[in-house]
Amino acid sequence: MATAVQAKSHAAVFLEQDKRMLIDGDWVQARHGRTLEVYDPARGEVIDHVPAGDAEDIDLAVAAARRAFEDSDWSRMSASDRGRVIWRIGDLILENADELAELESLDNGKPLGVARAADVPLAADLFLYMAGFATKIHGQTLPISVPFAPGAQFHSYTLKEPIGVVGQIIPWNFPLLMAAWKLGPALATGCTIVLKPAEQTPLSALRLAEIMLDAGLPDGVVNVVTGFGETAGAALAAHPGVDKIAFTGSTEVGKLIVKAAADDLKRVTLELGGKSPNVVFADADLEMAIPGAANAIFFNHGQCCCAGSRLYVEQKVYDDVLAGVSERASQIKVGPGLDPDTEMGPLVSAEQLERVTGYLQSGEREGVRTVTGGKQVGEHGYFVAPTVLDGAGKGNRVFDEEIFGPVVTAIPFKDSADIAPAANETVYGLAAGIWTNNLTRAHRLIPQLRAGTVWVNTYNIFDAALPFGGYKQSGWGREMGEEVIHEYTETKSVCIGL
Ligand code: ADP
Repeated sequence: MATAVQAKSHAAVFLEQDKRMLIDGDWVQARHGRTLEVYDPARGEVIDHVPAGDAEDIDLAVAAARRAFEDSDWSRMSASDRGRVIWRIGDLILENADELAELESLDNGKPLGVARAADVPLAADLFLYMAGFATKIHGQTLPISVPFAPGAQFHSYTLKEPIGVVGQIIPWNFPLLMAAWKLGPALATGCTIVLKPAEQTPLSALRLAEIMLDAGLPDGVVNVVTGFGETAGAALAAHPGVDKIAFTGSTEVGKLIVKAAADDLKRVTLELGGKSPNVVFADADLEMAIPGAANAIFFNHGQCCCAGSRLYVEQKVYDDVLAGVSERASQIKVGPGLDPDTEMGPLVSAEQLERVTGYLQSGEREGVRTVTGGKQVGEHGYFVAPTVLDGAGKGNRVFDEEIFGPVVTAIPFKDSADIAPAANETVYGLAAGIWTNNLTRAHRLIPQLRAGTVWVNTYNIFDAALPFGGYKQSGWGREMGEEVIHEYTETKSVCIGL
């Protein structure tokens, strides 16, 4: 009797393939032939190798992107056809959703169910949303008066033109979604791109590159160079053939990008770190606010630049909220992303594990109380227990610095007049949360918060239509929505004397 052989998943088949980078429509090795290891963070084991591209590969990719921008089917394509290609990318992401979710879970560690329900559909939706913009990028006709030329007549208007060749450097926390946030608007405007995924999580970007070719994207429009930040990333940021760099990652590296881009004043947009305040007032519906505050920090294992990592709670309900969030934290099932019961996977890398546990140890040394969690889980893989800290304040690293892990510091407050200054007392300004049933209080506080996004009675809501980005050291410019289109276009003013 024949034995049933279980079919391999598409992701397993993809993993077995030799990995190459995409330059000018060709799948290539790094010029130097070096590769980098890709880890499964749940086991701490190498599961794949991808090319370790560096400056030479970036040169080739930038040259290909330049050719595609200046003289190719892409540069001649109508806006409507460009929109159709982008739409098709979104559709193909959905058709391959299971495979992409599995790759994302394996590579990054996030629960498969979360990747399937959030990362992949959001990535697809971004392309679908941006597809519509391809035909809606236009300037204005302007009635100009020119007081120094009385009686003269002019016809004046603006044109919105693609910025050119764009270097896009993305992080490891939402590998596919960050690629989509970057690629979608750049394609809608007609730019061409060199994308460098994070060295920790290159797999979904390579699969997405295949999908983009299948969708009909002409050669050289999107080039994907895998490699390390210090080599491939730095070469891209400094490359004189690149018109704009769009970067998402740490504030520290964001500053390096600005310096690298300064020589030729290329355009730069940055989506950087955060230490977001999440404020619970005593009049909030605590049945919503408590799970909401837990989700604000523990979603994606706290590896979100907008994580609600400073939880301010009005004194009257502080004990209840602290106990409630801690109880939820202790109940979160930590395990491998591919295990269907897992609610929180491992951190992405050994480096992140060391960084987050280092913060936990520093808190302990400084006398900050650990209410729950506070330690690594298991001996294999990079797991950290969801952690709630009490009693941290200015001067404690766990309070002052971005941890980028599942660690929240809870802080009580008495007077609501104190909350805006406290919430703003950080170099960051990415996001903030407010939990209250008092509309007046919410509306008065919103304009006082120096943050690019304010969520009220909710948290971590993202949408292709909703701009996202930071005040202060959380970045420059915005991702998504109509706003991002301006980040990929130059405005040309035209004035014709009649
Ligand atoms: P993290 O510290 O969380 O890993 P990074 O900011 O280092 O985040 O990484 C985000 C992205 O920036 C990754 O793609 C990484 O390879 C890239 N990167 C890191 N260092 C540099 C650099 N010096 N120049 C350009 N890109 C870099």
